[in-house]
Amino acid sequence: MNGTALASQLKNIVCGSVHANEPMSKHTSFRIGGPADVLVVPRDIPDLLTLIKALSDMQTPFYVIGAGTNLLVKDEGIRGVVIKIANTISHVDRLKNGILRCGAGALLPEVCKEAAQKGLSGLEFASGIPGTVGGAVTMNAAAFGGFMADLVDAAEAITYDGHQMRLSREDLEPGTKTTRVLSEPLILVEVDFSLKEDSPEDVQELMKEYLIRRASSQPLSLPSAGCAFKNPEGQGAGRFIDAAGLKGVRVGGAQVSELHANFIVNNGGATAKDVISLMNHVQEVVYSKFKVTLEPEVRILGG
Ligand SMILES: Cc1cc2nc3c(=O)[nH]c(=O)nc-3n(C[C@H](O)[C@H](O)[C@H](O)COP(=O)(O)OP(=O)(O)OC[C@H]3O[C@@H](n4cnc5c(N)ncnc54)[C@H](O)[C@@H]3O)c2cc1C
Repeated sequence: MNGTALASQLKNIVCGSVHANEPMSKHTSFRIGGPADVLVVPRDIPDLLTLIKALSDMQTPFYVIGAGTNLLVKDEGIRGVVIKIANTISHVDRLKNGILRCGAGALLPEVCKEAAQKGLSGLEFASGIPGTVGGAVTMNAAAFGGFMADLVDAAEAITYDGHQMRLSREDLEPGTKTTRVLSEPLILVEVDFSLKEDSPEDVQELMKEYLIRRASSQPLSLPSAGCAFKNPEGQGAGRFIDAAGLKGVRVGGAQVSELHANFIVNNGGATAKDVISLMNHVQEVVYSKFKVTLEPEVRILGG
């Protein structure tokens, strides 16, 4: 079934918004990516469950994304349905004992701001990570020595055949830029963070410090998907890339950032093919010089 026909069928089933042949460049921080046959933004958790069950009955493949800040979507786009959980299912509620309950689609910078205002400490390191709560916990996003999964008290997830389950922190099986949510895969819909009471001023001050450090070391004015490669055991991938003399190297519109060697930036008009060729080149040069294998951190979808 083509995108237009599939979209009109889904419009009769879900309450959220449904878009046919949607350019994924509009939904990724890289500003790269061909069209998804259909992109759906569910209205709430029951709407998401209805959608999952319908797609599973129709045997239509689907992919869940958050804010698209860790994604490279191929130029050929995505066959099937992309379910976008960002700025939807985005409630943030303070419960007892320092628990902050967040919908998976809440944006992390907003959640961090709210935690600071409520005098809850723990999330300071994450205030400049631009994705959703769902994406950050799924990827066990990390910065300044802090890891998202360490803050999780419990999480609500949905299986790909539409069953709801509750996970503890241990059930998430966190690893380096991965969790069970990614490997199984599951869909995260809600996360309870376990935070500590502190003064709002102190929490805000520490967040500000981290944001300043980030702004001076990351190319935030150009489109990217954050770090391109995972850090090999105990060492920064960027150091190897820098030491290999690769800062500033380009393929088409894609370039290894001059400021942070582990960032690949879109200098204008970059294609997914440009980025993938550049990543391959970086991996080859780093391996030939240091015998170190760099593993992609950015998730590649479609094609
Ligand atoms: C400027 C910049 C700075 C960054 N800094 C950091 C940093 O300091 N540390 C860091 O770790 N990352 C960083 N990143 C990368 C990225 O922001 C994080 O990995 C973020 O957590 C991804 O969240 P997202 O919502 O955008 O997920 P997406 O990119 O949309 O998705 C990432 C993966 O998670 C899956 N996923 C997303 N939501 C769900 C869900 N609800 N249920 C199940 N699976 C889901 C997707 O299928 C995909 O596999 C940075 C990116 C940029 C652009």
